[in-house]
Amino acid sequence: MPGFERFGEEERKEVNEVLETGILMRYGFDGARKGIWKAKELEAAISDKLNVKYVQLTSSGTAALTTAMAALGIGAGDEVIMPCFTFVASFEAVLSAGATPVLVDIDESLTLDPAAVKAAITPHTKAIMPVHMCGAMADLDALQDICRENDLILLEDACQAIGGSYKGKYLGTIGDAGTFSFDFVKTVTCAEGGAVLTNNESVFIKSDGFSDHGHDHLGADRGADLHPFLGYNFRISELHAAVGLAQWRKLDTFLEIQRNTKKKLKASLQDIPQVSFRKIHDEAGDSATFLEIFLPDQTTAAKAAAAMKASGLPSFYYFDNNWHYFRKWDHFKNGIALSPFAPALRDYLRQYEDKTFPVSDAIINRCICMLINLNWSEEDIADKAYKLKAAIQSAI
Ligand SMILES: *Cc1c(COP(=O)(O)O)cnc(C)c1O
Repeated sequence: MPGFERFGEEERKEVNEVLETGILMRYGFDGARKGIWKAKELEAAISDKLNVKYVQLTSSGTAALTTAMAALGIGAGDEVIMPCFTFVASFEAVLSAGATPVLVDIDESLTLDPAAVKAAITPHTKAIMPVHMCGAMADLDALQDICRENDLILLEDACQAIGGSYKGKYLGTIGDAGTFSFDFVKTVTCAEGGAVLTNNESVFIKSDGFSDHGHDHLGADRGADLHPFLGYNFRISELHAAVGLAQWRKLDTFLEIQRNTKKKLKASLQDIPQVSFRKIHDEAGDSATFLEIFLPDQTTAAKAAAAMKASGLPSFYYFDNNWHYFRKWDHFKNGIALSPFAPALRDYLRQYEDKTFPVSDAIINRCICMLINLNWSEEDIADKAYKLKAAIQSAI
């Protein structure tokens, strides 16, 4: 990752086919488009590959999450349990639905701790939203059990885990709905785009309408469509879908590269006793976009992260990162929005002002993370492995 490292002839060909017809919109203009339907083709390709019945493309991963929330009926007064370690888009989508984000601890899998989820359930809980962070999965068996026992919706934020799987099923296809992001730094990218995946026909029909102003898409042309419910414009364009289609066909290659590289990087650290690795609930299903390492304590991890940065490795120390961990989400903690929240939501959000997550802190502050690039040669991989080991050893 990211997929843009492997842009080439294939992406250009798909885009040019769209440019030749001049029909940049995914709906309508049936005659003028001369049989070119890139968004539809990409939806079918995703559905085929992942063995999921329905796919609705959207303009971004955030739009996909927002669309899924609406299609699942999540809104005002509903609590959505989600991890305190994720990308900001996860809570943005909950807030945009008018629902209440209930943040809970993660465990050493860097995803939702099922015990913390259980403890957070109230009569207002409507959904659990695991985030398959950094390419690997949450404990979906445990979370599905909790959903079943408590009659809750499972919405997978699989935006960072395209192509990952859990016990033989692709991430994003296991819950009531799942979402992907194709933003510019994701495994498969089309600059901006996303997808809602579901096996539930009603969730799909609602996603299809919601992401296009509520159109039912049943009329002979757009003007003849009815609007059974309100929607917004979260449509993807044909240009974006065209890039996505070429990228999608490369997914298996990307996964193979990432998995091979990760194996080599991990092997190079085997003989350092202070190193342990992220817990992965199903190793075979890791999409291997990142390598996460735990060191014995915060001081060592911070030192190692600095050394990695100094030697030019693409690394993250999430404890100090502004985008992915609660500790630095000041705008969220302080409820700083441009327009007022509904009063009940505003009151709920106040608790985040001085909230801390000591259990997650103690995990994240020991974690260093390295991005796995797609365009590394064998020599590059050997060089990165050498530098990674040296950086860690210098910190211990
Ligand atoms: C990237 C991402 C999103 C949102 O995707 P955009 O396409 O950038 O809107 C949502 N959740 C997670 C975990 C992400 O990493």
